[in-house]
Amino acid sequence: MFRRPGALVALAATACLAACSGPAQDAATADASATSEVDTGVIVIDNARVFDGMRDLGEVSLVIRDGLIERVAEAGANDLPEGAERIDHRGRFIIPGLVNDHAHVGNTRGTEHGDRFYTQDQVSADLRQFQAYGITTVASLGMNGNAFGEIRTAINADPMLGAQLYGAGGGVGTPDGAPPAANMGLSDDPVARPVDAESARAAVRAQAASGVDLIKLWVDDLGGKSPQMTPEVYKAAIEEAHSLELLVAAHIHDLEPAADLVASGVDIIAHGIRDQAIDATLVEAMKTAGTGYIATLQIDEANYIYAEQPDWLDTPFLRNALPASVRAQWSDAAWREQKLADPATQTHRDALAVNLANLSSLREAGVRIGFGTDAGALPHRVPGFAEHRELELMVERAGFSPEQALVVVTSVAAQMLRFDDRGALQPGKRADFVVLSADPLSDIRNTRSIEAVWQAGRKVAGPIADYDPQARD
Ligand SMILES: [Zn+2]
Repeated sequence: MFRRPGALVALAATACLAACSGPAQDAATADASATSEVDTGVIVIDNARVFDGMRDLGEVSLVIRDGLIERVAEAGANDLPEGAERIDHRGRFIIPGLVNDHAHVGNTRGTEHGDRFYTQDQVSADLRQFQAYGITTVASLGMNGNAFGEIRTAINADPMLGAQLYGAGGGVGTPDGAPPAANMGLSDDPVARPVDAESARAAVRAQAASGVDLIKLWVDDLGGKSPQMTPEVYKAAIEEAHSLELLVAAHIHDLEPAADLVASGVDIIAHGIRDQAIDATLVEAMKTAGTGYIATLQIDEANYIYAEQPDWLDTPFLRNALPASVRAQWSDAAWREQKLADPATQTHRDALAVNLANLSSLREAGVRIGFGTDAGALPHRVPGFAEHRELELMVERAGFSPEQALVVVTSVAAQMLRFDDRGALQPGKRADFVVLSADPLSDIRNTRSIEAVWQAGRKVAGPIADYDPQARD
């Protein structure tokens, strides 16, 4: 089970009034009984057009109490709580806070990366950036330092410290293999690297005991350059994790290990398959098992697209997400030339094309698609921007409608991590949402028109034009 240790303690005492009495609880009933007295601490947002994580509700009123959505009422309802703070958001659009199932935190600063940046301040700076860009829940899939548990508790107790943090602790990799310690700057390597089934089980038990939310595996030979985790190791790790009711998400690049991981019961394939087209057998296996699939389209594109100087490079929405040192690097002609001349650039372009085609096939086949970007793992995987670009790629190049993409990044992304308290704007769920000035259902790029971000019933960020990434430089 994806655990939420202590994270919602601050909310839980009051949250239970609305949420813990089960699905039969009717928030409207609780509301009606309260109308005879003046409600303080209640906020009503009127007249915004709301996409609730599943569908377009049209213009409604959101009633927020104690950090939760208490009720979604018809616009103009005459039984809304008296004395509530009223905010008229006519002409605005509200979507649930976005959920990223695959990101990283505390691994970059300016143009540098490595585990030396895994401090609470740096993790919080990353999570404030995700939050400013509308991502209110982030799963950090591995390479978290030993302080992960403490930092998670501190961050999740205070919405002003950033998006809610969950994750996989260090994760489980391969000796002298993925994730490559030298390339990733892991000088005090937090990744467990078991050599056999017994040590794999021990690593999973140790991470479970330290309170991780899920188990991350890396199963990748890094283009034939490194040893790959053996089936003995990953099968034992998956079995042990499941015996402890923990989800398992696997980093892969190629089809062959992905297929065997699905056959071995992995819960989430955490990157797109990028070496070849997915075959019908694997599609069927994923559908039967209910395996989740997170394409991370942007991961390969980010390796070259900024060197290509696309016309959107200078848009404030991207520039605001970049530390000054990264902006300077990307403006440097020598850096751009060297990037584009690198033979790896064509490999990354090809990988994106295969990833897009596979995602399109899986969408058509009805495989469960989650949402992730790998943002934060390296400086060019830009927290916040990467997520909006991923949505754009899904719609423009993998055949998702804007509505389908929004379902993926809200309710389905939450369900993929077994969250039942977020990802949808429904009575009893967290009041985590984004206020937009333009309609994301007519153009997915309108998810960028962020006026405000709310988390646990508080406005925590916005508008996006005011965001300053200084703390990440
Ligand atoms: Zn990753």
